[in-house]
Order: sequence, then structure tokens, then C-alpha cells
Amino acid sequence: MGTPAKSDTAEKIVSLSKRRGFIFQSSEIYGGLNGCYDYGPLGVELLRNIKEAWWKEMTYREDIEGIDASILMHPRVWEASGHVEHFTDPMVDCKECKARFREDQIGELECGNKAYKGRKALKCMEEGKFTEARNFNLMFKTHIGPLEESSAVVFLRPETAQGIYVNFSNVKDSSRQKLPFGIAQIGKAFRNEINTKNFLFRTREFEQMEMQYFIDPKEDERFFEYWRGERLGWFKKYGMRPERLKLHVHEKLAHYAKAAVDIEYEFPFGWGEIEGIHNRTDYDLKRHTEFSGKKIEYFDDQTKERYTPYVIETSAGASRSFFAFLCNAYDEEEVTKQNDDGSTSSETRTVLRFHPALAPVKVAVFPLVNRDGMQDIAHNINDDLRRKFKSFYDDSGAVGRRYRRQDECGTPFCITVDSETLYDNTVTVRERDSMNQERINKDNIVDYLKGKLEV
Ligand code: ATP
Repeated sequence: MGTPAKSDTAEKIVSLSKRRGFIFQSSEIYGGLNGCYDYGPLGVELLRNIKEAWWKEMTYREDIEGIDASILMHPRVWEASGHVEHFTDPMVDCKECKARFREDQIGELECGNKAYKGRKALKCMEEGKFTEARNFNLMFKTHIGPLEESSAVVFLRPETAQGIYVNFSNVKDSSRQKLPFGIAQIGKAFRNEINTKNFLFRTREFEQMEMQYFIDPKEDERFFEYWRGERLGWFKKYGMRPERLKLHVHEKLAHYAKAAVDIEYEFPFGWGEIEGIHNRTDYDLKRHTEFSGKKIEYFDDQTKERYTPYVIETSAGASRSFFAFLCNAYDEEEVTKQNDDGSTSSETRTVLRFHPALAPVKVAVFPLVNRDGMQDIAHNINDDLRRKFKSFYDDSGAVGRRYRRQDECGTPFCITVDSETLYDNTVTVRERDSMNQERINKDNIVDYLKGKLEV
């Protein structure tokens, strides 16, 4: 595998994302909206596949149920959760250029004055250009009702977890689950981040994949360890390179946590959290009991004990995982190219080595040349495949170029109909990573691919 320089890689991934339709800047024709992105045709497939892989892993088991709670919740939820009081970042303003910074990230940020391009914000701070830090709440506010002044203020949820806690009793009673059990949810979250940066890493609108596992408090350490292992294993199972994953144990803990560990991925700009695993104790359920006046408890009919469960939370960003899977897949390698005159030369192949289950398009179908009925056969194969997999038909340009186009969007298999197909019904299947080709009967393509795509 090639290892392009990290700074280049970041730029190349951003440009490939736009060129091939993974990610577009939100409202681009109006100059863009900072910290917001749109998923293009390939991006939306990749995102859905990541969420599907997570959903299967987390909910296709006896002890976890899924929900989909609403984004807007009763305003008291955010008082109970501590977000109104604690969900703040320290913000400073530059008195000279008026740029605004998150104080605890100053070390990584640059001065906002275009005239001092590349100058570190830290230097401006040392020169006393900044205001005193003020706490800035990251929740987006909006209103329910037609008149802003008289209507209730509500928040766009900054995390999906609270929708799970307030539904604990509903899910427990309706599903007849016994502890330990979990509730999983995938959904949008919004944070009015002071500084967005690093492409999809820190955005204002993003998606989370969260699971809250409710347990007997005596078992918290065991389940914290268990979920830490499970979640790290999930990223590896879907092809994350182990050397680019590490655990970071938190010394300084959030107001609700007894223990916290992050799964970090080595992005081209450095290590960053992709998922947090937290022991949230009984903090959230107790707070919601206190603020709502409704008891949220569990009665164990075997031990006859009544108690508030502890919660082990696994909180992954779907959008950040998307970015990590994209960086993880990106590769460049030198390959030998066959020229039209029969000679060979070397070229750089850009390939996204996605796990086949995550790849946006699973298979592409080509006629080798556009004659002798090869196009019809290829169209028929593609029509058949399309019912089962995301497939793509392409008959334009040299076949080598068509392979490269598919490599660049991570398609794991390409099927070519050639002159041999016409008399023996076989096609070639070319595998993206090894570039090896084998011939199989065209009636066996679906079963062949099913076998290869299974996790
Ligand atoms: P950070 O320290 O990076 O701000 P956090 O510790 O506040 O993150 P959590 O509240 O634990 O993050 O959120 C859980 C997950 O949600 C994170 O691991 C990340 O994947 C995702 N996430 C959080 N904030 C953002 C954001 N602004 N943009 C994209 N993803 C985010």
C-alpha cells in the first residue's frame, strides 16, 4: 500500500469527495454555509452503509432495542441533562480582527486577519489582543409557535442520548426487556461549534450513532470493559487499519461521567475522537426523575431490589466515522499501465479500499467493446444485479480507464463482458485491491457477489 504525505492526503480527499460526489459544501452556490455539508450520490450510499453496519451490529441481538426519538424535545430535558448549565465552550474575541476562537483550542488555530496569513492565534493571545473568555452555550435555540417573543424556546438536540433516557420506561415496558439491556438510536445532532474545522470532523450539524446500555450499578466496570472491546472491534471488522486506531482514557471527566474512553482515529491532520464510551452512572435517569417527577427505576424480580440503573454509553459520530472510513480507504499506488501501442508505462492508481460491505457501489458492469451484442448482455447483467446490489453500468472509454474510475470510488468488483462471453457464457470479475481477474459463469454472478459481500 502506498503512503502519500499526510498534508497532501487531506487535500486530495477533500477534492476527490467533491469530484466523485461524496461530499459537497452546503449551499455552495451561495458561497457555502460554514460547518455544514451535503452528502452526494456516493456519499449518501457510504453513510447509509455505515449506519446499516452499526444498526445491525448493535440491534440484531436480544438485549438491544432501537428507537428514533424526535429532534425537538421538552425544554426541561436540557435543564435536567445539564446542557443548559454545562454545555458551554470558553470563547474569546480578537479585539483587532474581531475573529472568535474557542479558548481551549487556541493552540491549533490561526489568526483571523487575512493580512497575517498563517500566523498562530496563540501569538495574538500572548500579545494581549483577546477579550476575557466568556462561556458560550453550544445548543441551537429555536421557537415553537408563530410569535418569537411569546412562544416557547426549544433546542435542536446536541446529542441523541437524552431521547433514549426519557424513553427508558416506555421501551422497558413495551419490549419486556430485563436488565442488562440497551437502547440504540441513530440521528441528527446540532452544536453551534465556535470553530468548525477539518472538513467533516467538526461540523454544526452531524449524525450520531448512540447506544445506552442499562445495567445493575454493581456491574459497571465489567460492562464498560465489554463495550470498549466491542466498539473497537467493530471499527476493525469494517476494515479500519489497527495502527490508525487507539484508545484515549480521559483523566478529566464530564459532570455526568465516572469513566470515559475515546476511540481515536489517526486522520491526516492528526489523532481525533470518533467514538466515546462513557460510564454515565445513574446521573441522567436520576436527573430526569427529579425534573419530571416521574420515577425512572428498575425492579429486579429475582433479587426483589429496586434501583436506578447505571448507563454505559457508546456514542459514535456517523459523520465522523464516515470521514474516518474515507481517510482509511484512501490509497495511492504505482501500477503498470498497458499503452495502446502495446508498450507499458507506470501510473499512479488512486483507490478507495473500502470494506465491500461499506462500499457505495458494489459492482460495475462493462462491455469490453461496444459491438457484437456485448452491450445488451452487460445491460441485462446490470439489470439483474441492480435488484440486489448498488450496481453501475459503464461503456465509455478504454476498459483500463473504467477500472480506474471505479477504483476511485471504491467499487470492489468489476464485471466485463467480452468475446468469450458470447460463446461460453463466462465473464471476468476483477477485484479492486489485488486487481486479480477470474472468469465465472454469468449465471453465478449474484451468488459469487453475495459470498464476497458477506461480513
Ligand atoms: P469533541 O471533544 O470532539 O468536541 P465530544 O467529546 O464533545 O467531541 P461527544 O459529546 O462525546 O463528543 O459526542 C460523541 C461523538 O459525536 C463524537 O465522538 C464524535 O464522533 C461526534 N461529534 C461530536 N461533536 C461533533 C461535531 N461537532 N461534528 C461531528 N461529529 C461530532
